[in-house]
Amino acid sequence: MLADISEAIKEIKSKDHKKILIQVPEGLKTEVSRISAKIEKECCVDVFIAAEPCYGACDLPLKEAEVLGCDIIIHFGHYDFGVKTKIPVIYVPVEIKAEISEELKKEIEKIEEKKIGIYSSEPFRRLLEYLGDYLEDIGKEVVDKKIILGCSEFEPAGELNLFIGSGKFHPLALKGKTYFLNLERNKLEDLSRELMKEEMKKAARISKFEDAKKVGILVSTKPGQFYQDCEQFEDRLREQGKKTKILIFDMITNEKLMGLDFDVYVNTACPRILDNPFDKPVVNLRDLP
Ligand code: SF4
Repeated sequence: MLADISEAIKEIKSKDHKKILIQVPEGLKTEVSRISAKIEKECCVDVFIAAEPCYGACDLPLKEAEVLGCDIIIHFGHYDFGVKTKIPVIYVPVEIKAEISEELKKEIEKIEEKKIGIYSSEPFRRLLEYLGDYLEDIGKEVVDKKIILGCSEFEPAGELNLFIGSGKFHPLALKGKTYFLNLERNKLEDLSRELMKEEMKKAARISKFEDAKKVGILVSTKPGQFYQDCEQFEDRLREQGKKTKILIFDMITNEKLMGLDFDVYVNTACPRILDNPFDKPVVNLRDLP
């Protein structure tokens, strides 16, 4: 992973910051000591490292920055998610250098659909541009081109979605006919069945919620995941005759729900926590009718 910190350094110097908290994604952890040493040397500041796992720009270390008295947070690897913060945050993009192999190009050429929506995650932004140009060159029509998040709300724009990157976290946010240009495995994979199964699981969870009497409402304190209207939502469920309680966490896990006696949980935080197994049914708020 590559991160260009020159803009961040300019910004720190121009504002006379003294204490800085940096937060990096897992893939950049081996580089974090080098990055902090460079910032300390060039800017004459104290640099601290936020060491909790970071899941996105929804997960800024605001409490840690406040406790340490930091003037600014530098967040690597994700773009601004729109989280409102008292402390300023600089977002530093990260790039993964990768190429589309000749083998993969041959697979792409076999795609029959003409109107294609193409997607990727932030570190592959440059490659997404390249893929768009390549598809146009071989006669396809690129009808949509976006960087997506694991929680992006999505409606297909073309006959096929084509995701380029590594790991299934992001492409599983898509819907409809979807192919995954998996750079790690150098393969073009069809994710359509997996996505359809996800839709079926979603429908089953909604039906369990409808039958449930005792509902736990899961709320996260993570700055970009906190659901402001949780109490109004609870009132609505009570009007529907359900018994409810709001449960608040930082990270929501199955282990933390053990021993609680709710029939069903409504998750108001990151919808992708459902990628992990839960003993009791959990439905995402955004999926409720
Ligand atoms: S809410 Fe979840 S999927 Fe969305 S950016 Fe945060 S961690 Fe990623």
